[in-house]
Amino acid sequence: MSDCSSCPSNGSCSKSASQCGIQNNPLNKIKNVIGVMSGKGGVGKSTISVMLAKQLKSKGLKVGVMDADITGPSVCRLLNLAKGTRAYGDGNSIFPVESPDGIKVISLNLMLEDENQPVIWRGSLLSSCVTQFWNEVLWGELDYLIIDMPPGTGDVTLTIMQSIPLNGVVMVSVPQDMVSMIVSKSINMAKAMNIKILGIIENMSYTLCPHCGEKIKLYANDPVESFIKDNQTTLLGELPSTASLCAISDDGTDKIEESIKAEFENITNKITQSINN
Ligand code: ADP
Repeated sequence: MSDCSSCPSNGSCSKSASQCGIQNNPLNKIKNVIGVMSGKGGVGKSTISVMLAKQLKSKGLKVGVMDADITGPSVCRLLNLAKGTRAYGDGNSIFPVESPDGIKVISLNLMLEDENQPVIWRGSLLSSCVTQFWNEVLWGELDYLIIDMPPGTGDVTLTIMQSIPLNGVVMVSVPQDMVSMIVSKSINMAKAMNIKILGIIENMSYTLCPHCGEKIKLYANDPVESFIKDNQTTLLGELPSTASLCAISDDGTDKIEESIKAEFENITNKITQSINN
């Protein structure tokens, strides 16, 4: 049976414990859970999950990242975990690893003997892995848990939406995907599951001139405004395609341009405000 007292949705949920299929771990006290979604892979979802975690951590908050992109995990690398770092369990709980900047993280990559080996599992096994990441990992006290979700609208995404009490999801997209149905499908999935869409981040939206810092749009007919209107959502911000964001796994965030840091702080503030509204 679910334990409502340790659920992030306690107080704002209309279901009774017996109606709810979510298994919470009574040893955890997680205040907010944010899912980061994308219509397809390679658009910067993991990069943005980690940037969001780092930004919240820099405010002195307690933050964790769950790498639920089981078959394409990149969170450990992006959080600069030393090669060979492993997570352990004691038969009752799985203990997350802590990144050099104090972010708790769990990823299947931390449990594989050789991280280069693929995870050749059927959907049901992948799904039970993410539910274990929710109810068997000893996250302890967290202000925010960021979930790097698998791309698209498949089995594991559905499991996360059904078995983890998400406060909302952030959608990550690149300009050209907004003209196709790729991002709309993800948005409509979240809507169908009654999960709040906190907004969209348009990644790789422009590039910065190395000489004058001018923003150069990469797509002449960027559809972001009409997309936002058609899908009744909000634009949280636009991020450039830049070497510094590409290199956070090696350099951390030190080399990120000040204008991008400011934009990301703005995005993070909008996300936290949207959760509380
Ligand atoms: P996803 O989680 O959507 O698969 P990743 O965050 O793993 O995407 O990013 C895919 C690749 O794109 C990575 O090599 C990453 O470093 C790079 N990348 C992500 N965002 C940016 C950006 N704004 N500018 C440049 N490279 C980026």
